[in-house]
Amino acid sequence: MSKNYVIGFPRIGEQRELKKALESYWAKKSDFNEVQKVASELKHRHWNYQKDAGIEYVSSNDFSLYDNMLDMAVTLGAIPKRFQDLQDEELYFAMARGNQNAVAMEMTKWFNTNYHYIVPELSLTDNYTLNAAKIVAEYKEAKAHGVKTKINIIGPITFLALSKRVDRGDVFELYSKILPVYEALLTEIAQLDDTITLQIDEPIFVKDLEPKVLSLIKPTYDKLALISTNIKIAVLTYFEHSNEATKILVNTPVWALGLDFLHGEKNFESLTDIAASSKVLIAGVVDGRNIWKNDINATISLLKKIAKSVKKENILVSSSSSLLHVPFTLQYEEKMNNEIKNWLSYAVEKLDEIALISKIFFDTQESLNAEEKALYEANQTANASRKSSPLIHDKKIQERTQNITKMERNGAYEERIKIQKELLGYKELATTTIGSFPQTPEVRHARREFKNGNISQEAYTQEMKNYIDDCVAFQEECGIEVLVHGEPERNDMVEYFGEQLQGYGFSQNGWVQSYGSRCVKPPFIYGDISRPKPMTVDWITYAQSKTDKIMKGMLTGPVTILNWSFVRDDMARGDVSKQIALAICDEVDDLQNAGIKMIQVDEAAFKEGYPLRSAKVQAYEDFAVRDFKLSVSSAKKETQIHTHMCYSEFNDIIATIEAMDADVISIETARSGNELLKIFAKVGYKQEVGPGVYDIHSPRIPSVEEIVKQIHSLLEVLPKEQLWINPDCGLKTRKWEEVKPSLKNMVEAVKIVREELV
Ligand code: GLN
Ligand code: ZN
Repeated sequence: MSKNYVIGFPRIGEQRELKKALESYWAKKSDFNEVQKVASELKHRHWNYQKDAGIEYVSSNDFSLYDNMLDMAVTLGAIPKRFQDLQDEELYFAMARGNQNAVAMEMTKWFNTNYHYIVPELSLTDNYTLNAAKIVAEYKEAKAHGVKTKINIIGPITFLALSKRVDRGDVFELYSKILPVYEALLTEIAQLDDTITLQIDEPIFVKDLEPKVLSLIKPTYDKLALISTNIKIAVLTYFEHSNEATKILVNTPVWALGLDFLHGEKNFESLTDIAASSKVLIAGVVDGRNIWKNDINATISLLKKIAKSVKKENILVSSSSSLLHVPFTLQYEEKMNNEIKNWLSYAVEKLDEIALISKIFFDTQESLNAEEKALYEANQTANASRKSSPLIHDKKIQERTQNITKMERNGAYEERIKIQKELLGYKELATTTIGSFPQTPEVRHARREFKNGNISQEAYTQEMKNYIDDCVAFQEECGIEVLVHGEPERNDMVEYFGEQLQGYGFSQNGWVQSYGSRCVKPPFIYGDISRPKPMTVDWITYAQSKTDKIMKGMLTGPVTILNWSFVRDDMARGDVSKQIALAICDEVDDLQNAGIKMIQVDEAAFKEGYPLRSAKVQAYEDFAVRDFKLSVSSAKKETQIHTHMCYSEFNDIIATIEAMDADVISIETARSGNELLKIFAKVGYKQEVGPGVYDIHSPRIPSVEEIVKQIHSLLEVLPKEQLWINPDCGLKTRKWEEVKPSLKNMVEAVKIVREELV
């Protein structure tokens, strides 16, 4: 008996087929039929994978050519006015990516994942009408292919909560306009078959909801569940517990509730309510967000614990979320160390785990066939090896981590900054950049050739040094005051460090969709982290040797390294980041001992790690601040520590930013003028701040006048003694033709403002 369930499957293709098809179509190298052909092949392949693995509940409408929220917006007829004369795929991709006449819709992160969805735009003056074409077509396509699917849609409350009002005001005022379209959708879905399972995703239920939103749950699901007796509704949540919503949903006529027992341990508290209601429980027990092989014995115990409350026949064994957030299959990982590979499980492998777990749980161990038995035994062996492998467990590091005596640097900010200002002698409104300079085709080529063993270490080093020479020469000529080496040796700010740290793994084909056709290949932390040797010292000291000005060392911070990796699940995240912090701390020490006087420790992804529930925020902030401080704890008072964050919105976390106690923080502000800087003044922030004076996301070259204006507006908020002048972020995605004049204008603007100020 297979009683199992997969919330959703990734869609980009195990060889990124969809990406390639889309990008070729967008570049007008192929037509839309080609995209549809590839899409169809992928859907069929993914259905087959699930069917062949023995998955009972397989989805349709989890596929998307760009994004499921966008699909839902189209289904509900939520088409912003600027796109209204377009149709079909032209309309769809214009909404996602913009066209000559209309800017794209906004995109933002899907909860605490690295997936980005398109933010629907709603307005009270718009009318919404159903377009169920995609859902209907995909259901029929699957059925013709021999798979009776459940249909996945995003629920009305989540849809509204994640939308924005273009006419300002509360999105929930649109409830009475949107819900009828959902009702119409269910009516149409009911026609599709005698019985239909409808998965309604309501991940918003895992957040701390306002009473007003909670009060919508019962009327919504009472109504939707009564549309047709053909439809069995499963309401799915993931990434956290949803106890408040569960309490309400058990009193509606929905068929099943999906809960994540891995990332929402508190869901256990809902089991009695669920048992009393006799609802079906879709138990998320195989991690949909991480790449580790499931520990089947542990999962069976977990299921047994659940079964103490909920009747076994009411349980379905499920992934904890859609498998969208993990790569496809280990099949193409040809270069990976086999011992490490054996600890991993991507989407396709997870299907087998889910099937096997349900078999063991509902039948018995004895009922397994030879192949299943082998799989089960291999699973036990792999998990045992993870518990003891020397690749993972390093006594020396564990001892060091447990016996840290110095958690933060010496000297209070006031004392440090006085010493630094005297010693470093930089001016008010000092100019600098965030680190990277344009990554030219030549630089990328050299890195690739070196990686593939086609050029020698010497040739590679020379190539990088040439770049650094040019980069330093340009900054000197331009008149920038604090220089950087330009980061030519880095492909990515996390990968670069990961590759040099012990305990870090890399995949060959571990692609995960980030948005649209864009995929990322996050590195993974499998073991205790250590730094066999200095990681940046040669490059930075070389760059410093080329100038008399101050060369700023450039490192990625522990929290960012953590948040942009798949993290081992056999250790608390805070313990992992502590190990990373120690490695960075050693690097800081080596840099300062080599004569580097300013060191920037980037925390670009600091905000991304925030938990979904406010009850967990404190714990996150505690370790994130602790480990940032630990990572710079070796810095002497005279070594100036900078940090950089790619945000402008600091209102809720300003106290945490203060607690990090960096001497200088650079942030992204250009697009918001001085608005978002105000919080720094409001709380009496003491440390120095470099608010970006121009937007680096666009190829546009800012004029001297506009930068002067921007600096003026910054000066309305913070005094000149406290301000640095820099672009919003690193320049690696820009071209030299854009960067050179932009930075020259920036320096020129500072000159003008300084003259005004004397
Ligand atoms: N130092 C990095 C760079 O300039 C910072 C990048 C970032 O903030 N995302 O590229
Ligand atoms: Zn940035």
